[in-house]
Amino acid sequence: MSLKALRTHFTGEINPEADNGQTVTLSGWVHEVRDLGGITFLVLRDRFGRAQVTLVKKKVEADLLETVKRVSRESVVTVTGTVKAEAKAPNGYELIPESITVISDAESPLPMDTTGKVDAELDTRLDNRFMDLRREEQTAVFVIRDTVQKAIRDFLTENKFMETTTSKIVAAATEGGTDLFPISYFDREAFLNQSPQLFKQMLMSAGLDRVYEIGPIFRAEEHDTRKHLNEATSIDIEMSFADHEDVMELLENMIVYIYEQVVEKCQPSLAVLEKELQIPKLPFNKYTYEQVLEIINNEIPEIEDKMQFGDDIGTQAEHLFGEYVFNKTGESHYFIVDWPTETKPFYAMPYEDRPEISKSFDMMHRMMELSSGAQRIHQHDLLVQRIMEKGLNPSGFDFYLKTFKFGMPPHGGFGVGAERLIMTMLELDNIREAVLFPRDRKRLSP
Ligand code: ATP
Ligand code: MN
Repeated sequence: MSLKALRTHFTGEINPEADNGQTVTLSGWVHEVRDLGGITFLVLRDRFGRAQVTLVKKKVEADLLETVKRVSRESVVTVTGTVKAEAKAPNGYELIPESITVISDAESPLPMDTTGKVDAELDTRLDNRFMDLRREEQTAVFVIRDTVQKAIRDFLTENKFMETTTSKIVAAATEGGTDLFPISYFDREAFLNQSPQLFKQMLMSAGLDRVYEIGPIFRAEEHDTRKHLNEATSIDIEMSFADHEDVMELLENMIVYIYEQVVEKCQPSLAVLEKELQIPKLPFNKYTYEQVLEIINNEIPEIEDKMQFGDDIGTQAEHLFGEYVFNKTGESHYFIVDWPTETKPFYAMPYEDRPEISKSFDMMHRMMELSSGAQRIHQHDLLVQRIMEKGLNPSGFDFYLKTFKFGMPPHGGFGVGAERLIMTMLELDNIREAVLFPRDRKRLSP
């Protein structure tokens, strides 16, 4: 027997007027039972919302009422009944039950509250993520994340990008950093990839022309912050016959498209989170790295140490500059362009006439960095030189460098952190809120 008999509709699919008087079957979790003496309500919850099942003591069969009074919160139940339009009920209807079956009992006490009445610590919530995700605010975040990822796929497909999947087990570090997780690979040491960068570039030589990947990146960063994970999701693109300007134009258009899609498709989830999204305006403002330095040094007195060319823009400066831009322009998204070549990875393309700066950018949100990108070096010898200047050994990059010797088009690309995108869009306090099962310094389970 198919389990289709267990459900004819989701809660959100029932139309109070059109379906009034219809018999339907809903399945879901017992959100709560309210016994008011003469009348008892069972609130059934599924991914799309809630339905109120109404049992009037004088009218309903005694065993139905008995089942409802005995069932524990968060048990899974199936209810068949008649739809009755009721303006005061969630979604505008109630269900007058003919049968109620308990499919799976929930033990009590529950590991955490799901009604939102008791505030649980983030750690408790993540320890019990399956239960935490039953709360409508948490469901809403991932409904929106789903829409964001679909929007990205649609946008990039429309722009002739091909979705790719590259290996996460690698022999060498992408950027020669120390932030790598070593793993044992038979009798050798291997690493979890920190970025698909080198693969994406190799695919430019392969002639795939425009590729993207939405996949995990692994960073063994020790720090415990609100915006870093040890396993994050990167939205990575690479495109041929493009420079950093072309890549930035694609990126800002993609961000606007994502926001538009979320506004169009996710109103119920946005309402649950009490968020109204402001769609960023095109084109995003651009500040050169040197302009940022000048503004920080002259117009932001909170930063006491003067910054010098070549310094990274630290968390505090990043934050204060984001506020400065927002106060000036009313916009949350902007670019910082033309970074010192030394602050960027070896594959960033230096300007011909000023090699100390590179055709690179960070795309910023008021709160933090969302993306880094650049035009890449496509000339083999220059690339080898840059690898050596970074103190790395080119022989470790043979598999990559080879692809620059047999026809490599000019190209550029970027990586956007999916969790940071969601976090900034929904103004979440902690990046872990945007991941189903986050991995951080302390957390390896669930
Ligand atoms: P940051 O300086 O903020 O740590 P990064 O410059 O090291 O980031 P990139 O290597 O430029 O990061 O990666 C591209 C994007 O991937 C970042 O802009 C960010 O959105 C995301 N990202 C990188 N590392 C992490 C991480 N540890 N946790 C979450 N997102 C990350
Ligand atoms: Mn970066």
